[in-house]
Amino acid sequence: MKQTAGIHHITAIVGHPQENADFYTNVLGLRLVKKTVNFDDPQTYHLYFGNEQAQPGTIITFFPWSNGSKGTIGSGQVGITTYAVPAGSLPFWEKRLSTKEVDYVNTTRFDENVLQFEDVHGLKLELVEREEGPLNSWSNNGISAEKAIKGFAGAVLFSANPKATIQTLTDTMGLTFLKEEADVVRLKAVGDLGNTIDIPLESSRPGDMGVGTVHHIAWRAEDEADHKDWLQHIKHSGFQVTDIKDRNYFKALYFREYGGILFEIASDTPGFTVDESQDTLGQKLKLPEHYEPARERLERILPPIN
Ligand code: ZN
Repeated sequence: MKQTAGIHHITAIVGHPQENADFYTNVLGLRLVKKTVNFDDPQTYHLYFGNEQAQPGTIITFFPWSNGSKGTIGSGQVGITTYAVPAGSLPFWEKRLSTKEVDYVNTTRFDENVLQFEDVHGLKLELVEREEGPLNSWSNNGISAEKAIKGFAGAVLFSANPKATIQTLTDTMGLTFLKEEADVVRLKAVGDLGNTIDIPLESSRPGDMGVGTVHHIAWRAEDEADHKDWLQHIKHSGFQVTDIKDRNYFKALYFREYGGILFEIASDTPGFTVDESQDTLGQKLKLPEHYEPARERLERILPPIN
């Protein structure tokens, strides 16, 4: 049986890239670890934010559509992206969000305190304290490693068919059932980050893709050989799956699960230091080789990001 370690990355559609970068670096203190283009639409950025080492399980990526229309969060999408912060750090984050004028609400789920808020483009985020997962030593704007976001705690999936989504996650992706409470099922993956997946059993109204919505969630494969095994495994599980695509930093394949959510499987290798050193991650616009001839034109079109 195959078993993913958990979330590799989550990709969302947002508005202006500068506003996006300001929020994830200045407010949340993440590191911009890769500045590249959407490989399927090179006139738009693809921005990656994560921990200092740009490890799988910490990576949120964005397609910024400056003039894009607003989407609707609903079923068939990742509804909420949940970040893990070190134990005891939620009071720090409440203060920080207040200082940065980000409205938040305190709630609880499965006996954990959760801080819920939205990013600058309406994407639903939350913070929860977790003991698991390494500290993030990227210090940015007054956030020490003892407080910094470690990476994903998990995600809340808004499924159009919750039972089918749960079955795919357990039978095909190798997560295990942990508990059910207040009509939410919690599944667990084996990794130490991005390992807690919550699925409300009541489906919300259908979502609409656009600014402020998640485009897809990617699950971890170990390496490129394991990724090939996943392709066969997903096929044999009866899903329509794409070919393996080379995303430079990982191999990718995509399929839509029966609850309408776009799933990707992404390999941990070769990783984000394949085309720039760890010290300089995210500083320069990186392009796949076939777009290098168009660099000058693309650099003229893409808005500068500070
Ligand atoms: Zn992806």
